[in-house]
Parts: sequence; structure tokens; C-alpha cells
Amino acid sequence: MSTERVAYVNGEILPESQASVSINDRGFLYGDAVFDTTRTFNGEIFRLEQHLDRFYESLRYMRIDSPVGKAEMKNITLNVLKKNLEILPDGDDYWVSQRVSRGVRGLPGIMKPTIVVECFPLPLEERAEYYRDGIKMIASSIRRTAPESLSPRAKMHNYINLIQAELEIQSQDSKALALLLDVNGNLCEGHGANIFLVKQGVIYTPREQFVLAGISRQVTIELATNLGYEIKETDLDIFDAYTSDEIFVTSTSFCICPVSSINGLQVKSQNIPGDVTLELQSAYSKLVKMDFVKQYLDKL
Ligand code: PMP
Repeated sequence: MSTERVAYVNGEILPESQASVSINDRGFLYGDAVFDTTRTFNGEIFRLEQHLDRFYESLRYMRIDSPVGKAEMKNITLNVLKKNLEILPDGDDYWVSQRVSRGVRGLPGIMKPTIVVECFPLPLEERAEYYRDGIKMIASSIRRTAPESLSPRAKMHNYINLIQAELEIQSQDSKALALLLDVNGNLCEGHGANIFLVKQGVIYTPREQFVLAGISRQVTIELATNLGYEIKETDLDIFDAYTSDEIFVTSTSFCICPVSSINGLQVKSQNIPGDVTLELQSAYSKLVKMDFVKQYLDKL
């Protein structure tokens, strides 16, 4: 049996070593493409419909007309995943992504979007210690792209704004996660993750208009609401972060991960994760029918 993953490219499912896109593809040339990524829990894909809804909204924002509709994209995704699950080691899981670029450069109206669906193993080992020790977050001097320039709500291939922040922060501390503020100095999001603060039992997160509205952010809001917490989506700044009791980030891969410090200042909670973060992590694990924290910690 092959041990190589497969990917879908423009109508074909191929071993990854044979799957390719043109050097003239605008996704490669200009980052002119859209993607979305969900993950599996024990091989089960999570909230695919919601990820596809966001994906098709990103495509619409980018004015890319995908020749493959949502229902077909769902089938392709499930098919690619099914084939790749056969070679997934026990205890691991996949990121599962759809990608559509504007196509190979050419005349407007003639370009045909390039379509890719692929799986990639989650970086469980790399991130395991974050679940034991918490993540150190450092605010970057790079501000998150303002909605007036390019909407951070669309998930596009162009991640340079976030990558610049990551490079800056990781040159100071290779394990730290970049925190991006918006152009007004409000907390925005981490590199690839949404941020939440907990202060006196109330949970706060930046407003959706200025961030990529994470599916895990939404799941966390739902779980917290069901647990009876008050959730406020509002402008927050560094003062709010420094004075909060707990901080955590959410993303498809992180689910919910505790933050231990901001700019070197320890969060107030003595334990990692703090009580509220732990309660939400447990609710998340229950929802996905898998102890995702244990999955990470097992890799230590
Ligand atoms: N913000 C950014 C910039 C991201 O790239 C991601 C990861 N997709 C998130 C937030 C979290 O989104 P989700 O929970 O849907 O993974």
C-alpha cells in the first residue's frame, strides 16, 4: 500500500509527488487565491459546511468564480480525506484544505480557476508544549491589514502581513506567537489564531469586522454562551490584555490554547490553563468527541 498522501488538482486525484500547479498560476505569482482549512478529530472532519460557507464568501469577496460548487467541493474534500486517512498514523489528525486560485495568467474572462484539495498532518509535536506551558505572545510592530486596504475577513493566500509579524517576533523568541494589533492599536488576532481575554468572569474578543472570523472562535462563543458566560465582542487594547485574568487563542488546529504571557508579562492566573480556559477546553473536547489537549500532550 502506498504511504504517499494524495491531492486533488483540477479534476484529478494524484499522489502529492505528481500533483502540481503551473508556475504561471496567479496563486503563486501574486497570492491571488483563496483557501480554507478545517481539521479532523480522530479522522472525523469538523464543521466542513461552515468552513465551506466561509470559503465561498472569501471567493466572492475576491471575485473568483469557482467552477466547482459547494456541494461538489464537499464531495471532493471527503473523497481526498478518505484516501488519506488510510495512511494516517494512529493518534494523528489532518488539516484538510480547499484552495482556488484565479488561474493561470491570461486575459480576464479566459482564465480558469485552479482547484486544489489537500490534507496535511497537524503539527501536534511542534505545539505540544503550548498546552503544558501556555503560549508566549508578543505584539508585533506590524499592524494587521486594515479592512480599508484588504478585508482580514476573507481567507486569502496572501499571508504576508501575518508572516512579517511572525518573522519579527520569532527573531526574538522562536516559540512565541505574534500578536497583531489593528491600525488603531486594538488587539486584532494572533498569527493564524483569534484571541480571547477573560476578566472577572467575562469573556472578551475583538470584533469580527477586523479579524478573520475563526470557526473555532464561533464554536468557543457558542460553548461559552451555553456554559452561561457573558461574551463581549468589543475593541480591546494592550491594557485589557495586561489586566486580564486569563488569555487564550482559538484556531482550527489549536482549538483552545492557553496564553502564558503577553510581551513578557505573565498573565494573572497562577495556573495554565486558567479555570475558564480549562472549562472551555473540556467543553470543546466533549463537542468534538476527543480529548484534543491529551492528543497534544501525548506528543511531549
Ligand atoms: N485568524 C487568522 C488570520 C487565521 O489564519 C486563522 C486560521 N484559519 C484564524 C484566525 C482562526 O480561524 P479558524 O478558527 O477558522 O481556524
